[in-house]
Amino acid sequence: DDVLQPEAAGDDLAFEGALRPASLAEFVGQQKVRGQLELLLNAATLQNRAPDHILLAGPPGLGKTTLAMIVAHEGNRPLRMTSGPAIQHAGDLAAVLSSLVPGEVLFIDEIHRMARSAEEMLYLAMEDFRVDIMVGKGAGATSIPLELAPFTLVGATTRAGLLPNPLRDRFGFTAHLEFYETDELHRVLERAAALIGLAIGSDALTEIAGRSRGTPRIANRLLRRVRDYALVHGGAADHSAVRAALELYDVDEHGLDRLDRAVLSAIVERFGGGPVGLSTLAVTVGEEAETIEAVVEPFLVRTGLVTRSPRGRIATARAWTHLGLSPQAGPQP
Ligand code: ADP
Repeated sequence: DDVLQPEAAGDDLAFEGALRPASLAEFVGQQKVRGQLELLLNAATLQNRAPDHILLAGPPGLGKTTLAMIVAHEGNRPLRMTSGPAIQHAGDLAAVLSSLVPGEVLFIDEIHRMARSAEEMLYLAMEDFRVDIMVGKGAGATSIPLELAPFTLVGATTRAGLLPNPLRDRFGFTAHLEFYETDELHRVLERAAALIGLAIGSDALTEIAGRSRGTPRIANRLLRRVRDYALVHGGAADHSAVRAALELYDVDEHGLDRLDRAVLSAIVERFGGGPVGLSTLAVTVGEEAETIEAVVEPFLVRTGLVTRSPRGRIATARAWTHLGLSPQAGPQP
């Protein structure tokens, strides 16, 4: 059921690990970001220092973790991985920072979910490679400065807008990852099919690519479902296997999943096409506002099904057509 969820979990994590490109050259698409990162990494190598801190922003499954690994791998640097939700206190962060070795890459996923106190500690760490550790409580409390090894922070966030300015400003470079084009996903899939040893035709890959929500993680996952389908039915992983498998998993011809469609039909059928506010929409479909904003909305906006206005989300004429309704019908009473 969760085949289209852009978040990774369980079994998929191992699968993803096996498919991750290890170098910028293997990383498909995002040409602009790749060029920018390449320059930044090469400059650091020439100057024999740790690369600037990097912020990667974009919806889940577009390659943020992969890029963090590539930053470490290309520079032959060790990598430490943690996430915002795991840093609930400044002390959690201090423990990580103080154990970094020189030149280490520290990846903090979902950095917008880190505790406030840790965020403040991070400012100084990023700028001066130093933290102030508070010892004791009340009047007797003192702060002890602690030198850190120079490191490169790679932060990932689905919502760059949620980061406080002082934190955002301390990144030397911010990359905004975009949804992938169908031909780029085709290349991602070709590579993945070769890696898992699946014989599959180019037209079948194009069909999967076109239905993957512009997201490599989803493309790879759908590929696996198609392989399962072919395996179980004893047939080839061809165009008809793709169609059957995707239908089974409720992926429509635009790659919209159940939640995408729920949001779309809520705007159209419950709110007469909008505008409707984010929190109202979230309550209506029974999902968290953050998920709607970070996962569902960017894709619906990019496919031209939804637009944002100061008063809320509005379904476009295309959305009505997509749901098999006539846009001319206008707002419902
Ligand atoms: P994020 O951290 O943004 O959620 P990941 O880096 O974990 O996304 O990527 C999810 C999956 O998609 C991984 O298995 C990775 O191999 C694949 N992937 C992502 N971006 C690319 C890319 N540009 N080229 C090839 N594979 C990619």
